[in-house]
Amino acid sequence: MKGWLLCLIALAATACAQGLPAPSAQEGRRTAMLDEQLRARGVTDARVLAAMAAVPRERFVPEDIALRAYDDNALPIGQGQTISQPYVVAYMTEALGVLAHHRVLEIGTGSGYQAAILGELAREVYTIEIIPELAASAEFTLRQLGYAHVHVRTGDGYAGWPEQAPFDRVIVTAAPEQIPQPLIDQLAVGGRLVAPVGRQGEAQDITIVDRTPDGLVQRRTLQVWFVPFTRAR
Ligand code: SAH
Repeated sequence: MKGWLLCLIALAATACAQGLPAPSAQEGRRTAMLDEQLRARGVTDARVLAAMAAVPRERFVPEDIALRAYDDNALPIGQGQTISQPYVVAYMTEALGVLAHHRVLEIGTGSGYQAAILGELAREVYTIEIIPELAASAEFTLRQLGYAHVHVRTGDGYAGWPEQAPFDRVIVTAAPEQIPQPLIDQLAVGGRLVAPVGRQGEAQDITIVDRTPDGLVQRRTLQVWFVPFTRAR
C-alpha cells in the first residue's frame, strides 16, 4: 500500500505501472548534456554518444558536487586534479576512433570517468594514474560499476604499460610538452594516439598521431586546457 502511494506521490504512475524506475534528475541532466553540449557541438559518433549516455558521471565526482556533474566544464576531483569537461571527453574519444575489439591505454586515470567511457567501447582498457589516492578511488568506482575489463595501475605513465603493449589506441589525459616516446613505441601498426600537447601554463593542442605502415602521421586539432603531465620523482 505504502509503495503504491509513493509511486503516485512521485507522479511516476506510468513508470510504476510498467515496473520501470522513473528517470532520475541526474539522468535528465545527462540527456540534456548529450543534446546541448555534445550533439550541438558536432559530436556525431553513435557509439561515443551511447557511451556518454551510459556512464553515470555523477559517480566520478566528489559527492558534494554531484549536482554539478553534468555542468559544461571541468570539475575538481581532489589532489589538485580535475575531471575533464564532458565535451572534451567526447571529442577526444571520437577522435580516438575506438572499435569493440581494441585494447586501449589511457595515461591519467584521474576520476576514472574517461576510462569508463573507454570501457563502454573497447575490449580491454589499461589506465595509469600517478597519484595513488586517485588511482585507488577510480579503481573502487570502476569495480562498483562492474568495469572488470578496465585495469588500473598506479605509477608514472611516461613508460606506458610495456607488458600489455602493443595497443590499438593510446589516450593521454594530462598535458605533456612532448609525447613520451615509449607511448609512441607501444602503438600497434594501424594504431592511433590522442594527447593534449603543449607547454605548461599555456593552452594545448589536441594532437593525433597515427602509426601507418609507412610511418607516423601527426596532426593538431582543438585547443584545450589540461592539468600538466607530471613525472615520478
Ligand atoms: N581522465 C581523467 C582526467 C584526467 S586529470 C578523468 O576522466 O577524470 C589528469 C590526471 O593525470 C591527473 O589525475 C594526474 O594526476 C594524472 N597524471 C599526470 N601526470 C601523470 C603521469 N605521468 N602518469 C600518470 N598519470 C598522470
